[in-house]
Order: sequence, then structure tokens, then C-alpha cells
Amino acid sequence: YMPDRENSKGIDLTDPMMLQNLMHELQSFTSLAPWTANPLINGIVEADGDERPIYNPADHHDTVGLVVEASVEHAKKAIGIAQEAQHKWDATPVDKRAAYLQRAADLFDSNRAELMALCMREGGKTVDDAVAEIREASDFLRYYAMMACQGFAQPSIFRGTTGEYNAMTLHGRGVFVCISPWNFPLAIFTGQIGAALASGNAVIAKPAEQTPLIAMRAIQLLHAGGIPFEVLHFLPGSGKRVGTALVSDARIAGVVFTGSTETARAINGVLANKPGPIIPLIAETGGQNAMIVDSSALTEQVVRDVISSAFHSAGQRCSALRVLYLQEEVADRIIEMLTGAMAELNIGNPCLLSTDIGPVIDSVALEKLKCHYEMMCHNAQLLCQCSLPEGTEEGTFFAPCAFEIKDMSLLTHEVFGPVLHIIRYASQELDNVIEAINNTGYGLTLGIHSRIDSRADYIQKRVKVGNIYVNRNQIGAIVGVQPFGGEGLSGTGPKAGGPHYLYRFVTERMVTIDT
Ligand code: GLU
Repeated sequence: YMPDRENSKGIDLTDPMMLQNLMHELQSFTSLAPWTANPLINGIVEADGDERPIYNPADHHDTVGLVVEASVEHAKKAIGIAQEAQHKWDATPVDKRAAYLQRAADLFDSNRAELMALCMREGGKTVDDAVAEIREASDFLRYYAMMACQGFAQPSIFRGTTGEYNAMTLHGRGVFVCISPWNFPLAIFTGQIGAALASGNAVIAKPAEQTPLIAMRAIQLLHAGGIPFEVLHFLPGSGKRVGTALVSDARIAGVVFTGSTETARAINGVLANKPGPIIPLIAETGGQNAMIVDSSALTEQVVRDVISSAFHSAGQRCSALRVLYLQEEVADRIIEMLTGAMAELNIGNPCLLSTDIGPVIDSVALEKLKCHYEMMCHNAQLLCQCSLPEGTEEGTFFAPCAFEIKDMSLLTHEVFGPVLHIIRYASQELDNVIEAINNTGYGLTLGIHSRIDSRADYIQKRVKVGNIYVNRNQIGAIVGVQPFGGEGLSGTGPKAGGPHYLYRFVTERMVTIDT
């Protein structure tokens, strides 16, 4: 049995009828009264715990809901139940596990309007980004369901010289802790869980502190699709408290984490020192992503791709462009065009179709960006900055801006927002540019714009980067089409949405029988 798979079609926002229906459906969800995300252990709502409000990042007067924070005791209890249930789940035929995930994907699609509204209201996503987010979440579920059926249903048989029977089978490792980020509050959250479940693990899901509401809906839909309560538990709460309790527990069998390099290191440290078995950490972390534009590039296309790579999603993608290298012959022209294009960007309420750039996630993120902005104003040249329209003071908005810098020495950390840094280079300096990019230690995405194939090829063979995009933007990897993930400081691999991802979630068992 092999389920057919096609990526979800999403919604064509250029189709007037589709758009009208969508906007109509969205209306009933964008004004929903606040509701509460609770820890869910074995399907039971845990009501005890500290409560915290979740505000709309575009408008702090709009309370989207509340979250009841999971405690250390909740973590212990959930792990115990998950551990007991995992063996039976692993013994469940893989096609059955896959069918539950596919059913959940169908439920994601049929509840698209509600999920989109949550992406927009809780996560500050624009309409386009929200459509893509739901699509990616369903794609992850269907893709991992298919990959599990393909890879795990039959044992691998090996032949030796003695006539023995040798069979290798793949098994879930046990309880996986899934810790996900707020920038893809549904897609990455669901992708991690889907992969762990498809591979036969039980799961404790800890969503980002900023986005527990959409995560709770995702869990409910996964349960409604057929995933047993005892194999999927939900623990919203603080990374320091519940996150640490989960990763330091001797009973867990693996951790999958997407977030900052710093946190990944901290988790790695805890795992190294905790009692119990030595277990895998699958981490997808930050980047210092560059784009190299040479003098043969098509300037209009460069500008379009820079705008989307650096500023869309308010620059809050780990794949986003941070450092743009322009060959000096075309630099002035591109900067001029870019300044013009930035002036056209609409910043504001993400629920409006006309909005290009929504808010940043919260005041902590905004303060960090302001701090970086101040530092750059003193040390670099501000080339261009969008202006914030009226009304944006109600939320955490940051105006997209571009600075010219001499080299990367000022960029000591990832700047997670709509700030672009531009460096001019001379054609004979291309090797230095490549070296500088490799010296960051990160290796997530790289954009190349050149109409000389041999040059694109030259660069591509020398950079240590996980996802390279030639003559297009460098964001928006598609599940099963552009497997996504970096190297070095950017992550451990394997790539999410790629053919090798599930293998890190399993253990291999070999049986040899003398016949
Ligand atoms: N997969 C996303 C992209 O290609 C980025 C994921 C992330 O920001 O963590 O844009």
C-alpha cells in the first residue's frame, strides 16, 4: 500500500471567486472571542496553571486568547503516559499510522479559514503567508505519511554467503520531544510532529511561547484524524521551565528543535549530561544568508527577489536574505531601484490583502531590531527606510530598512527581521566574498543572480550552504520539492520535507536466522 501524494493546491488569491469565498469565511474567525490553550495530556485538558494572555502582534488591544502554562509535573506525567503507549504505536502497521496523518491533513485543509485566521491574528502573518502556511502543514503530513510507507513497511533483506536469513526493520525510538518556533507556528510545529509520529514515536509537543493557540488547534485536528490521545501530548509553556524539564528527562528518546543556534546548543548540553541513553538532536537553526549579484544579472528580477527574500514575512524566516553582495558595476542602479521598490511596500494590518509586511512577533523582537538599527546608524550608511503608517503604533511594527556596510564584521549575530545589509564587491573579489560567506559558520540559504552559468556554478560548488537558489528568491522551500535545512551553525540536518528526514527518527534492528 502506498498513498498517492500531491502537494496541496492552497488558494489562488488571483481568482476573484476563490478570494471572495475566503474573505467571507475568514471574517467569522478574525473576530472570535478569546479562548484558552491548555496543556492536553492523554486527551484531557489540564486547567491548573499560570495563565498568560496572547495579544495580536498587529494590535495589542486585541486579545486573541489565553494560555495555561504547563508545569514540570505535567511534563513528567505526559512522558510517562507517552512512554507506555509508544510500543503499541510502533507496532501499529505503518499504513495505518500514515492514514491517520493523511486524515489530519484533510482536516487541516477543511479548517483552513480558522487556521489562517489564527496565523494572522496570533502570528501576525499576511494573507499570502497564511495560505502558504496551511498548505505547508498539510504537505508535511502527507509527505511523511508517504515516506514512512515507502521506507518502513517492508524489511530490507540482505544476502550472505552462508544461507542465513538477514532482515533489517526500522522502529520508532520512543518518546520524541518536539520544540517549535513561532515563525511557522503551524507548518514547522506540524512537520516535526508528523515526522516523529509517522516513524513510530510517541510525541510531546511544546509550541513556541508566542503561538500556543494555533498549535492547540493543530493537536485537536491530529487527534480527530485518529492519532491516539496517549501518543500525542501538548505542553504549551516556557522553554526555561517545561522545555528544560522535557529535554532533561531520562525517559525521552529524541529531540527535534527549530529555533536559535544558541538554544540548540543549550539543548545539546542538557542532552549530553542527562541520565539515560544518548539520544539524537535534530536541530534547524539560524542563518546569515547572503545573495551574490553579478553584473550580468537581470536587475528587475534581482530587485523583486531581494524584496521578497529580505522583507516579506517581515524578514522573520530563517531562510531570509540578510547580506546582499552587489558587483560594483551594477550596485548604484540596483540600490536606486530597490529604494523605489521599498517605497511601494505596504506595512500594516496583516489581515488586509493589500498588506505586504505585517508586524514582528513581539516587543522583545522589536527591541532587538531597534537596538541593531541604532548600532548600524552609528557604524554604517542608512540607504533607505520605509515609513510606518498611522495605526502601526498599536502593534510591534518595524519599518524595513537597508544599510550599506563594508564587510560582515558588524554582523556578529542573526538579525531576525526586515533589515538588509548591502556590500559592494569588485569582480576580482568574488573568492573573498565566497570566503566571507563560509566564514560566518552558518550555511542555510544562498541566492545567486547571474546570467553566466559557469559563474553560478563556480559559486555554488564553493559555498557551504544547505539551500542554494539561482536566479530566484531564496525563501519558501516546498515540501518534497526543495528539502530544506542548513549546515554548520545552521543545523544538524537531515533536511525537513526531504527523503532522508525520517531516518533520524528511527532505530534499525537486524535479525539474522540460521536456516
Ligand atoms: N522553510 C522556510 C523557507 O524556506 C524557512 C523555515 C524557517 O524560517 O524556519 O522559507
